[in-house]
Amino acid sequence: MRAAELRALLDQASYEYYILDRPTLSDAEYDRLFRELQGIERDHPELRTPDSPTQRVGSPAVSALPKHTHLTPMLSLGNAFSDDEVREWEERIVKIAGDEVRRAGYSAELKIDGAAISLRYDDGVLVVGATRGNGVIGEDVTANLRTVRDVPLRLRGTPPARVEIRGEIYYPFDLFERMNEERVRSGEPVFANPRNAAAGALRQLDPSITATRPLRFFGYTVVPAPGERLPFRTQGEVLAALKGWGVPVAPHHRHCATLEEVARWSHQIEHEVRATLNFAIDGGVLKVDDLALQDDLGVVGGRDPRWAIARKFAPDIAVTRLLDIRVNVGRTGALNPYAVLDPVEIGGTTVTYATLHNEDLVRAKDLRIGDMVQVKRAGEVIPQVIGPIPEQRTGEEREWRMPSTCPACGHTVVRDDEEVAWYCPNVSCEGRRLEGLVHFASRAAMDIRGLSDARMEQLVAAGFVRDVADLYALTVEQLLTLERFAQRSAEQLVEAIAASRAQPLSRLLFGLGIRHVGAGAAELLARHFGDLDHLMRATEADIAAVHGIGETIAHSVITWFAAPGARDLIERLRGHGLTFAEPQAPAASGALKGLTVVITGTLPTLSRQEASSRLEAAGARVTDSVSKKTSFLVAGEAAGSKLDKARALGVEVIDEAELLRRLEHPA
Ligand SMILES: [Zn+2]
Repeated sequence: MRAAELRALLDQASYEYYILDRPTLSDAEYDRLFRELQGIERDHPELRTPDSPTQRVGSPAVSALPKHTHLTPMLSLGNAFSDDEVREWEERIVKIAGDEVRRAGYSAELKIDGAAISLRYDDGVLVVGATRGNGVIGEDVTANLRTVRDVPLRLRGTPPARVEIRGEIYYPFDLFERMNEERVRSGEPVFANPRNAAAGALRQLDPSITATRPLRFFGYTVVPAPGERLPFRTQGEVLAALKGWGVPVAPHHRHCATLEEVARWSHQIEHEVRATLNFAIDGGVLKVDDLALQDDLGVVGGRDPRWAIARKFAPDIAVTRLLDIRVNVGRTGALNPYAVLDPVEIGGTTVTYATLHNEDLVRAKDLRIGDMVQVKRAGEVIPQVIGPIPEQRTGEEREWRMPSTCPACGHTVVRDDEEVAWYCPNVSCEGRRLEGLVHFASRAAMDIRGLSDARMEQLVAAGFVRDVADLYALTVEQLLTLERFAQRSAEQLVEAIAASRAQPLSRLLFGLGIRHVGAGAAELLARHFGDLDHLMRATEADIAAVHGIGETIAHSVITWFAAPGARDLIERLRGHGLTFAEPQAPAASGALKGLTVVITGTLPTLSRQEASSRLEAAGARVTDSVSKKTSFLVAGEAAGSKLDKARALGVEVIDEAELLRRLEHPA
């Protein structure tokens, strides 16, 4: 009973998250329900089902992948490289099926550059998932496909009793990048090409490896079991049915009534949409929309359908020479290597610069100055260097190393291993000056009205502002010497800057541009320490113990305040009368005022976040590590080392029920 209920809840949550893009369950809540279901299934294996969300974590490895014969062959498409070739295709099929083809129109869909798969569902439950293979026989990779988060384990609604869904497995660019960054950090080789990497992940013998890869799925067609018919008349209806069953369908598909519309659609996708997508496409697919006409047109040689064609786009990858690797300095001082390229045309734009992310990635890709490299421009504004073509090396190529001094200010650079990045620790480094100043004045930080990027540039160029403290010394007279300032606007700006002195500590901390300290972390720190002097006196361990902060941020904060010029900057800001304090939210009851509390394990009803906010509302401080100063530990299920430590130190341990009682009726 409870197992079925949990499966339904988790299934619904995944559907809302992956398909509707409207999450209703927090990650913590999902994890809690997931673990509860795992527990039930562990104790009662007979309750385990193949469509249980717990099956997504991967099953035991196999020594070889079994073969799988598709219900009907997986088709391969002919290509059209221009609108003219699409017209020739239409002329060919009109000769066979008549003018009706033109009346039915076309379904135009994105052609995902991933790995093709088929999924068989019996009574709505996924029973077999297979690679395309040679189109007739593929490999059974069901266990791997179960780990792909948006492959439905059970179809929603009322699908036919036996049906095969076909589609494409791919890596979203953002998740692919993040995976590569993590691989660099753990010393593993990076994947160059999302498509090959997706195909490789699918064919893993150990599903628990596939489960760690952020693969995603788009479905595009439905194949009936032999001898059966599907209740659809058009491809448009097929796509709508897939969505209804909870199968993700690629965006931007459209019914085009004429070839003119098809041409407009392909050009829009190629030149506008493609660069905004978070996944790779290599063109569009055009299908005769009417399924009966598709049958009439048939399949040539059992493999090539006459009724569909791939409209290929110009490649978004080009080959050019890597002329140099240079470094720029970001707002927080991070040194980012970038590639200077022999200018090359990709998808209608000339590309001269490309990002290289960080030093480790340059090394992992073995990029050398002078290499011929593949450059890709897709999915994002900044082009990327995929990798070198080592076969074309002449021996003249040079290895590259991160410079040991900041290219902007000459200060010795520092390595941040957590972020696999080098950065310039000089808080008044010229390289980070302008970006840092703009950030300080931005709405999320000190919110100084009327201080646009252009005006900030003016102030810096005039030599009036070298760091954030200089802003508070600006005078109306100084501003009046600049272009585009009148008496009124100069006065307004000076007033707006003065008004920002009253901003709370959290905004100041965020505005200072300390590495890893985003708006959220700044608020946690400000709330915990109350004022800047307390924070500056804190040790790294004190800061790391703040709930939600951790060692990376703590180290970064300590390093920032220890850096040359930092204390001086703070004293100058103090001299200008900035508020160094955070207004404390009045404790609702103050029932637990002054107590320091640690939470560990999974509580039966409250999420960690809820418990923390209720404790804080009652005046308690919630920290992450148990010490002698801890007032009490709230322990839930699966509490680990913190519970042991609390016992060793003689710290009181209570459960959720007792916590709720104390929140209601303080001792
Ligand atoms: Zn510098």
